[in-house]
Order: sequence, then structure tokens, then C-alpha cells
Amino acid sequence: MRITRTLTRLCATAAVGVVLLTVPGTASAATPDVVTQTATGSGSQTFALTIDDGPSPTWTPQVLDLLKAHGVHATFCLIGDHAQAYPDLVQRIVAEGHHLCNHTMHHINPTTQTPDQQRADIQAASDAIHAAAPGANIEYFRAPEGGWTSDATQYAAQQGMQPIGWSVDTEDWRTPGVDTIFQNYKREFSGGGVILMHDGSEENDRSQSVAAMDQILSDLANNNVTDDAPAVLG
Ligand SMILES: [Zn+2]
Repeated sequence: MRITRTLTRLCATAAVGVVLLTVPGTASAATPDVVTQTATGSGSQTFALTIDDGPSPTWTPQVLDLLKAHGVHATFCLIGDHAQAYPDLVQRIVAEGHHLCNHTMHHINPTTQTPDQQRADIQAASDAIHAAAPGANIEYFRAPEGGWTSDATQYAAQQGMQPIGWSVDTEDWRTPGVDTIFQNYKREFSGGGVILMHDGSEENDRSQSVAAMDQILSDLANNNVTDDAPAVLG
């Protein structure tokens, strides 16, 4: 596996036309790109707000109320354990027209797992989300802690999920204060992009995230930047 991963990573920076070796029983060399732009593209005056680690019975309802007040649809990157614990919140997310993203079952960084463990955690999360919201379309996959591996991206893509990263990191999980979260967004957002924020877990205080999200959504509206979904590669 190490050989395949190394070659795949090299391929991302190498010239087109490099022939990669494949190792039987491992992911193939082709790795789906991790998108960091909106469906209408960078510089398009659109944003995709992505909200990670929920659902949380404390914070997710506040975030959903806020999104409704702003008339914005977001992408929720759900942890399977939390979807299993709070199926009613998964149902509300779907009912209110937001996008779903698989954020693995237990939020373990894929780079620390075997390929089989990665696949099992991705599949288990999809199963937990579907148990809560049968038939719901899980459009995206995001690796915990940005721990991207070719196995995880490949498996997600095989399951019809687009791997998504972000272009604007608000660093709200550090709880640096509402003003700092807002300034982080202002510094990094230019013309269009995928914004990273958090609504879970319940043991974490996301009150700053909720307050900053209100300010960020107002600022985007004031600048005529409209909501969008992350891009899906064909
Ligand atoms: Zn996360």
C-alpha cells in the first residue's frame, strides 16, 4: 500500500502521462480530486458553507434556525456515531433542504487506519445516515482532520460521494472568539469558496461558531455573495 500511495501522491504533481503501477488488492492509482470550490467555481461570488462533526442536539438546531433565517442551504458533514444517536436531527437537516456529507463513523483520521478500516468507517457512516433518513442522497465525503488518503477518496467516490476540502478555514473549533472567527473568514474569503465551520460535538462549546456564522452570513449577503453547494466533479 505504501508504494501505491506514494506513487499516487507523486502523480498529483507529476506531468500527465505517468504510468502508475497497481498492486493487487489495493486501491487503483486514479485518485479522485478533493474539491475546494463551489459548483459555480472560484471567483463566482458564491459560497458553500460546510458544517462539520454534528449533528449535536445542542448546536445543530441553533445552526438550522440560523440558516433558515438567512435563507441559506449548507452542507452538513455528519459523524456516523452522532447521526445514529440523533436521527431526528438528520431528518430535519434533510427536510430543510441541506446537503449531506459523510464524515466517517467515528471521526478517526484515515491516515492512521488500514484501508479496510477506512472503508468500514465510511460505509458505517453512510449506513447510519441512511438508517436515520432512508433514501437521502449523501453527495459528499470529508476526511476527518483533512487526513486524505487515496483509499478513502477512492472508496468515497465509488460510493457516489465527492471528496470535499475547504478554501476558507474559520478555525472556529479553536474557540478564539467571535471576532477572530469572523476575521479569519474575511482574510481567507475572496470571490467564492468553501467555508469550514463546526456544529459538533456537544461536548464542545460551539456558541462562538453560531454567533460568528450569523455575522458571516450577513456579511456574505451584504456583499451579494450567494449560497451554493461544493462542486461535484463529473
Ligand atoms: Zn471533523
